[in-house]
Amino acid sequence: MEPTAVNTRRHQKIVVIMGPTGAGKSRLSIDLATCYYNNSEIINSDKMQVYRGLDITTNKITMQERRGIRHHLLGSFDPTESVINPFNFRQFASEKITDIVSRGGLPVLVGGSNSFIYSLLAKNFDPKSDVFNRPDPVSSELRYKCCFIWVDVSFPVLDQYLCKRVDEMLGSGMLEELKEYFGSGQDLRVKRNGLGQAIGVPELEGYVKDGLKCEEMYEEAVRRIKDNTCQLGKRQVGKIVRLKKGGWNLNRIDATEVFKAVMTTDDGGGRVAEIWEKQVVETSVKIVKQFLDE
Ligand code: ATP
Repeated sequence: MEPTAVNTRRHQKIVVIMGPTGAGKSRLSIDLATCYYNNSEIINSDKMQVYRGLDITTNKITMQERRGIRHHLLGSFDPTESVINPFNFRQFASEKITDIVSRGGLPVLVGGSNSFIYSLLAKNFDPKSDVFNRPDPVSSELRYKCCFIWVDVSFPVLDQYLCKRVDEMLGSGMLEELKEYFGSGQDLRVKRNGLGQAIGVPELEGYVKDGLKCEEMYEEAVRRIKDNTCQLGKRQVGKIVRLKKGGWNLNRIDATEVFKAVMTTDDGGGRVAEIWEKQVVETSVKIVKQFLDE
């Protein structure tokens, strides 16, 4: 890359929304984009959502929820052909940022894979090093001017919510989606170390292939899905803390009260929406506004 291009990139502003699965990152990105900065475009950095298919199982934001905001690297890759790793994510996402900036837009990076986020943003990214699983040093120098929003939820509350979310996903067609996935033989073509790893796929395989007959198998699979989702959330927070300790300037926003309200209120969303707006959206807007004004 030309030195001038590197210099320009260092001054490009991007917003990064990170946090554990279920914390409301997608929702926040849309709220920020629609209410305040309508030239924003979202780049997905969830490891499973980059692939086409299994939209319910991987919890992709729906078309309706996107509210017209342009999304990139979301359902973009054929899961039978590609396995996206941090190294190629860095290339794809850098290109997207360049395109968005050339249109005068604000890139908003949103997603749960911290290794994707790290590979894209670290100035000195070495694909052979692993800052999350080894004591390799975190690169505190970044390739872009970043405003980090870390949406966090305390664990007991997040765990409770994630279990509820798994039940809701099953209620909204996850099992039917996986029945089709295994029934059509897609599972045999999809890369096992890509989309084939999505939580729900290995856990429900036995039950679905057995013809959905055994209630005990189903219950065991659901228990494992809940367990694995909660563990994923904990691992993700561990990685975020690692980046913070490594010098990344992350603004942590505590959304615990929102999720407590989700678990206890039945008001059609009124109170929940109010707390979300006040404690998460308004705080984030202030942080992003200040960043953009700098
Ligand atoms: P990181 O990318 O942050 O280093 P990682 O490599 O463990 O961590 P994660 O994004 O944390 O990747 O995902 C780890 C695993 O969690 C995935 O391989 C998959 O099994 C599961 N997972 C992650 N995101 C999803 C999702 N949206 N839907 C289903 N399963 C997911």
